Amino acid sequence: MTYRNKHGLTRTIRDAVKREVRKRCGFGCVRCGLAFFDYEHFDPDFKDAKEHRAEGITLLCMQCNQKRARGTLSVETVAAANAAPKCLEQGFASESFDFGSDPMQVAFAGVTFTNCPTLIEVNGFPLLSVRGPEEPGAPYRLSGFFADDTGDITLKIEDNVWSAGADNWDVECEGPLITIRNGPRLISLVLRQEPPKRLVVERIDMAFEGIRLRGKDDVLEVSFDGKSWCAWTGCNMVDCFVGMSFNNR
Ligand SMILES: [Zn+2]
Repeated sequence: MTYRNKHGLTRTIRDAVKREVRKRCGFGCVRCGLAFFDYEHFDPDFKDAKEHRAEGITLLCMQCNQKRARGTLSVETVAAANAAPKCLEQGFASESFDFGSDPMQVAFAGVTFTNCPTLIEVNGFPLLSVRGPEEPGAPYRLSGFFADDTGDITLKIEDNVWSAGADNWDVECEGPLITIRNGPRLISLVLRQEPPKRLVVERIDMAFEGIRLRGKDDVLEVSFDGKSWCAWTGCNMVDCFVGMSFNNR
């Protein structure tokens, strides 16, 4: 049976309210800036809430949430953090990918890159690159960025630490998926984490230096003019120093 509080309210919050809270908080814990979080009723507490009001809900990571549940983090401190969210202060929410010490694979829509130091480069500039472990047993390290179809950066990766800009329209982390939208129903990126070896770009719609990359499921399309497109599907790049290189200069 669905749990209800004394006012008959269930835990289910409407999607539009959740997005409003995410956007207002910059897509991460208001105290720590971590991109994995729960929705926390603080004004009033869930047990006293009659409705799911966006202004009364904030974002807390698992650790902060646990502290609230244990009674070691005050509602005053949460309210203060909610008024000045960490992610808005620093400009992003962040978390880490879990890669191991075996060569990693990135499935970029229709093209899979295995053990390639540079996956995709545009005009000699790498969009995604991988460095080997710093010492035996240490992880492989992925760096790079994704952008939306206007060229605005949506998500950056620096040695496996990813950060999603607080200026995105929406960033949603559900299970192993990260979804970034730049408007209602406008998906610019869907990443699926498959630790410890694989990252899957399920959806991408990005522009960089006039080159457009559009990917869905197992097809990657690239255009230099936004009109004619080249498509790749079921393509495997293994041990390539540079997987794909595009030049429009
Ligand atoms: Zn936190």
